[in-house]
Parts: sequence; C-alpha cells; structure tokens
Amino acid sequence: MAGNRTFTMIKPEAVENGNTGAILAKIQEAGFKLIALKKTRLSSERAGEFYEVHKERPFYGELVDYMSSGPIIAAILEKDNAVLDFRTLIGSTDPAEAAEGTIRKAFAESKAKNAVHGSDSDDNAQIEGDFFFTADERF
Ligand code: GDP
Repeated sequence: MAGNRTFTMIKPEAVENGNTGAILAKIQEAGFKLIALKKTRLSSERAGEFYEVHKERPFYGELVDYMSSGPIIAAILEKDNAVLDFRTLIGSTDPAEAAEGTIRKAFAESKAKNAVHGSDSDDNAQIEGDFFFTADERF
C-alpha cells in the first residue's frame, strides 16, 4: 500500500524570491496536510549528508553549495498516495519539461534551482523527514 506521508523542502532561491507562501498554498490546495514545518539553513556538511545518494553525480558539489546558500523551508506532508501525488504536483526536475500547473513550472528558475524537493519513495520520505524533525515537532 502506498504510504501517506512525504517530505519536501522549498529551496533557497524560492525562499529568497518570496515564494514560500504561494508554494505552501498550492501544496495545501492540492490536499496535503502540514504535519511538520520549519525554516532552517543547512550547513554544507548537512546538505552533503542529505544528498549523499548523489555524491557520484557531476553536479553534487554545485547542489551542496546551492542547498546551503540560504534558508530553506522543510515540511512533512500527509495525504493518500503522498509520494507519487506530490511528485506529480511538483513536476519534472527541469522546469522546461514540467507540466502546466505544476509548482516547478510556476516557480523554478532552472534544472538546478528548481524551487522544491519531493521525496522519491516512501523509504526516503521517512529518512528525510527524520533528518529534519523530532517526534515532538510533528502534529
Ligand atoms: P528530483 O528528484 O526531481 O529533485 O531530481 P534528481 O534526484 O535527479 O536531482 C536532485 C536535485 O539535484 C534536483 O532537484 C536539482 O536541484 C539538482 N540537479 C539535478 N540535475 C542537475 C544538474 O544537471 N545540475 C545541477 N547543478 N543540479 C542538478
């Protein structure tokens, strides 16, 4: 059975550009409930740890620098079929390929600065939520 929670971050350029409220509104309008929410900033060490799975990819260093370049919004979201439905809501990694109506189509600047993160599996949703939130930060 598909899990009912996923994890997201609003990435530094979207926070810097003042898009936090508009993106959270789209997420809530799509039926996701906010279980946990915080504004924080990743050190480069923490960003490197979060994106460890990508460490062999050529853009890993750029990704770590970007994700630690300013504050982000982290959230755990709840909805039936959360992981897949959220990936649909955010759209393709590259905004040039993202469907109309998706968050990345509306807010992403580029394939690298693409406004939001969304977990790609139930296991990663659990791991990523645990990376940012303690049990008493979830409601
Ligand atoms: P996602 O699951 O759609 O976020 O995409 P991936 O797992 O493939 O990549 C993770 C993140 O790495 C993306 O969301 C982008 O922020 C970044 N990224 C992906 N491709 C590139 C690239 O070619 N260059 C850079 N600098 N960053 C990239």
